[in-house]
Amino acid sequence: MPSIAENVVNNDLCIGCGVCAGICPQQLLVMNFNIHGEYNPFLKQPCSTECGLCMRVCPFNEGNMNETEIGRKLFEKIEGIKYSEETGYYLDSFVGYSPTFRETSASGGMATWLLAKLLEKSVVDYVICVATQDTPEKLFSFQIFEEAESIARSSGSAYYPVELSDMIKTILDKPGRYAITGLPCFIKAIRLATTQNQKLKERITVLIGLVCGQMKSKHYTTYLSELANAGGKLQRVNYRGKSPDKPASNYYFHCINQYGTEGKVFWNDGVSEAFVNRWFTPNACNYCDDVFAELADVSFMDAWLPEYSNDNSGTSLMLVRSHAILNLVHQAIDNDEINVNNIPVDKVIQSQAGVLNVKRKLLSYHLHLASKMNLIAPNKRVNPNKRIGFLNQKEVELKLKMQENSKHFFITRNQTMNIKNVRTIMHPYLKQTKNLRLIKRLTFPIRIVKKYVSIRR
Ligand SMILES: Cc1cc2nc3c(=O)[nH]c(=O)nc-3n(C[C@H](O)[C@H](O)[C@H](O)COP(=O)(O)OP(=O)(O)OC[C@H]3O[C@@H](n4cnc5c(N)ncnc54)[C@H](O)[C@@H]3O)c2cc1C
Repeated sequence: MPSIAENVVNNDLCIGCGVCAGICPQQLLVMNFNIHGEYNPFLKQPCSTECGLCMRVCPFNEGNMNETEIGRKLFEKIEGIKYSEETGYYLDSFVGYSPTFRETSASGGMATWLLAKLLEKSVVDYVICVATQDTPEKLFSFQIFEEAESIARSSGSAYYPVELSDMIKTILDKPGRYAITGLPCFIKAIRLATTQNQKLKERITVLIGLVCGQMKSKHYTTYLSELANAGGKLQRVNYRGKSPDKPASNYYFHCINQYGTEGKVFWNDGVSEAFVNRWFTPNACNYCDDVFAELADVSFMDAWLPEYSNDNSGTSLMLVRSHAILNLVHQAIDNDEINVNNIPVDKVIQSQAGVLNVKRKLLSYHLHLASKMNLIAPNKRVNPNKRIGFLNQKEVELKLKMQENSKHFFITRNQTMNIKNVRTIMHPYLKQTKNLRLIKRLTFPIRIVKKYVSIRR
């Protein structure tokens, strides 16, 4: 039986969710950081049973069901359920914010509001979500909350590796109803695990998804702290600081290092360059086709729409797939507890146009490249395709080079990160990317006319 190490980790397809390590009946796997600052499962001792459970719960193991197949089983029979290829199944879509949690949250604070509500109304006994850990080696981790009052401590988005192995073990040991937050691939791993283990199926009763463009390795945070002039061992970071004089999209990264030095850098002053160009992004993210966390009972995201992104306080979008959650939302709207309205699903899709382009069109080219290079790639709902246009091809190739370079940078530079070195190495790719963007802008009218003509034919 092929192991998780041979099939997934050695092919650089592991996202580090930790579900395999949590569910392993012999507890042979332990989650640790690899040299690239990404979590991987490591074998403590050779596996003698080879039961294959680790493979059956892996979101990047090509033999497992895809999101459409799992989604159909979960949601198809729900009364009033709708489906779109982009979002998967959904009952209703909303836009708005929670006045209580908005200020300290990533977007409109709706995710934190729901977690608090689930505990307050005893819909679940425990919430498992991500909170700061305040140790330099592990700045964030999945943690367990029992009281609605303490949940605000977990607000915000962690662009930092976190893993679920200990939490899965806790759920298996401790009876109760659990809600868990997660990125799309984590939610898929949990859903796969619930098909393999009855206790997990009974105890994990609510899954809360976050729309995801890409994950980041631990080294991304090191890079940002250097950019903010507060490098060294970090004590605490916040990736999504809000400023009254800036639009929601220009949020800032803030950190405090071991000497108490504080650093701050805005999205437009260097964060976006590293984020958008996929520096420090795990390879597995290149093979993801789930934008909206299709297997979650509810998915949250930023309202990246012109009518909301100028509001510096942040606004959430919400896709609901469960009647129980829908009822909680309606009750809270009626009680004026949250400032939330319906929004057409087309608008929700529009808000993630960039991520959809990456996870559909550009993914098809990634798959083409993988097959050309004889690399193992998971089966996706998108087929390999090289005909995505020359400019798009170039974009993928340049970003792949930057992604690869950022991954090896740390090792080759004696575990220190020097911003000047990073920028020197990235400079030629950044220059080409800039030129590419210029050509794209200049040729935009021609491409629109071409598209129009081809539709008319
Ligand atoms: C890596 C990453 C990439 C993302 N990419 C996009 C994107 O491309 N487009 C988009 O619209 N939105 C994206 N999001 C989601 C967005 O950042 C917000 O989380 C979302 O809008 C919810 O905002 P909120 O104010 O309602 O959440 P909050 O009220 O701030 O609550 C967020 C909840 O999520 C939990 N959480 C934070 N980070 C993680 C994590 N890594 N894994 C599991 N749980 C976590 C927290 O514990 C908290 O409970 C991403 C989030 C992450 C972590």
